[in-house]
Amino acid sequence: MTREWVALGTVCVLLGSNLFGLIYSMLVLKTNIFKSFRIQSKSYQASIFSKRMPLFVFNFIILISVAGVGSYLIYDSIDTSFIPIWMIGLQILFAFIIDDIWFYFFHRWLHENKFMLKNIHSIHHRATTPFPLEYLYAHPLEWMLGMIGVVIAFALILVVMPINVYALWGFGLLRNLHEIHIHSDLELPGFSKIPFLSKTKHHDDHHSKLAGNYASTFNWMDRIFKTTFKK
Ligand SMILES: [Zn+2]
Ligand SMILES: [Zn+2]
Repeated sequence: MTREWVALGTVCVLLGSNLFGLIYSMLVLKTNIFKSFRIQSKSYQASIFSKRMPLFVFNFIILISVAGVGSYLIYDSIDTSFIPIWMIGLQILFAFIIDDIWFYFFHRWLHENKFMLKNIHSIHHRATTPFPLEYLYAHPLEWMLGMIGVVIAFALILVVMPINVYALWGFGLLRNLHEIHIHSDLELPGFSKIPFLSKTKHHDDHHSKLAGNYASTFNWMDRIFKTTFKK
């Protein structure tokens, strides 16, 4: 697999997951098929999607540029062979854990630092009743700083072994799908059965109550540091 194919694959993973996010958003906003699974009863503003669109596009361009160029540049550190599936799974799990630790402290700081909350993070919190693609709706500075966790995670993997391309793509895909889903305002059956994984309600409460629940992928960081939102 050439350098170009690795970069193209990364871009395709992000295009695909965000296309899914777009369809998911349309189903949530324009139809009633998920109505019985909604967490909040508030209805969405009619023009909410077009209001959010410019920043969605801007941040999506940042995302595919950073990820596409990044995977092109680190090609020499990427292993493109098929390795046992458990090793791919282990790299993905490790990346999720490190990324979530970064996200927890970064996100908590965005709330505890009043300047950052007022001028930067308040943009993401315009969504009190989020819909899937609003995971992209954040100040571009917050959006880019949020990616540092992924860089740290893969840099740490690199200390021990090469980054496997399927782990890189798998992580990108699953992380995006999870981010899209936790902004859906939907509690779908099945997802609540996965242990330690943060449910939509966890992040939805963060958006509607603006307190606690700072982690994204898992819920253990909030449990350890006693920042789980309690009614
Ligand atoms: Zn927040
Ligand atoms: Zn959010």
